[in-house]
Amino acid sequence: MNEIKRNNADLLLISMILGVVLGVLFGYLFGESMVAIKIFGDLFIKALKAIIVPLIMASIIVGVTSLGNVKKLGKIGGITFTYYAITTCVAVTIGIIVSNIFSPGTGVDITGAAMPEKLQGDHEFNFLALVNMLIPTNLIQSMSSNKEILSVIVCSIVFGAVLTTLDEKGKPVIDFFIGLNAAMMKIVKIIMIYAPFGIFALVASITGEKGVDEILKIWKFIVTVLVGLSIHAFIILPAIFLFIRKKNLFQYARNMGSAFMTAFSTDSSAATLPITMECIEKKNNVSPQTSSFVLPIGATVNMDGTALYEACAVMFIAQAYGIATSFNEQIIVFVTATLASVGAAAIPHAGLVTVVICLSALDLPVEGVGLVWAVDWFLDRCRTTVNVWGDSVGAGVVDTMVSHETDSDREQ
Ligand code: ASP
Repeated sequence: MNEIKRNNADLLLISMILGVVLGVLFGYLFGESMVAIKIFGDLFIKALKAIIVPLIMASIIVGVTSLGNVKKLGKIGGITFTYYAITTCVAVTIGIIVSNIFSPGTGVDITGAAMPEKLQGDHEFNFLALVNMLIPTNLIQSMSSNKEILSVIVCSIVFGAVLTTLDEKGKPVIDFFIGLNAAMMKIVKIIMIYAPFGIFALVASITGEKGVDEILKIWKFIVTVLVGLSIHAFIILPAIFLFIRKKNLFQYARNMGSAFMTAFSTDSSAATLPITMECIEKKNNVSPQTSSFVLPIGATVNMDGTALYEACAVMFIAQAYGIATSFNEQIIVFVTATLASVGAAAIPHAGLVTVVICLSALDLPVEGVGLVWAVDWFLDRCRTTVNVWGDSVGAGVVDTMVSHETDSDREQ
């Protein structure tokens, strides 16, 4: 039975990888005509988005009510936020270091750089606004907007914690959410059957529409970002995983394959969340209590790839405009990029909006963002995949640490 399951999972992953590879190939060969099939990719994204809110709510409520002791939530929370903070800071540092080494912006032609229409508007970063987002004015509105996920998470945690104090009265409500959670996970499985087609359509249409010309123009910047992302994804995160979780890293990463392919094709960690949860819980055996807490919050606030990218983009633009950044200014890049990545939404191009925020904080020309806009369709996909990998490693690491702590509590 397990053998059959394994084979099916492998088959699905291979079809998803084929979806990406053939997508790039068809997009390259047939160009803009591939935009016609975008609708099949949009259906995939819509299906994922449609279940995010009920899935997050049900899984968090089930996770919190099954903890046994609400104090455990504090422990998971503490370890999770420490992990997020450390990995985000490391990612930004890597971004700054590789940009200093490669200096990709030096000599780049800045004539005609303009703020892309899509990014126009007021983008002021305000940490208090982020705190304000924790509590909704109207929960139903937050649920339906699909944008205020943070407040939905907070409400679900509180709701779950309160249910545990109601004894018999809370039981039917908990049972309802257990059923809802199981149903949502089943729907994820059904969506995954369609995923290879959706992935193919998304990748083929975007590659066909954009082509590779723009990529070649600022290839040095692309290489810098890719080197930075690779150091984080292949060295830093694996080192943390091996040091704490001490399990087969290759197998763990392979089990996340479907989530990576989905992240790459949808360029949204929020849309990928249902698949990330399925892979983490069903294939990597991370407890639902941990994953239901670490993954939804991680998708919204823990974005290592985005943080690293922001640092690279800001340094690139400063270099292109011939503005030297002193050590102190690089510290400001570090702080703003770290905070802005927390505030970035888990949707396509959100990281570019936060680049504008960092540029204004440093008094750098915001229209410089126009230099990187043309290639964001590609780099966004790469950083989103790293964002999802960061959350996945986080779920494994936190799960191991929480169970160790609980064991040592019991021994005392
Ligand atoms: N697209 C990214 C994500 O959803 C955010 C970004 O633009 O960096 O994780």
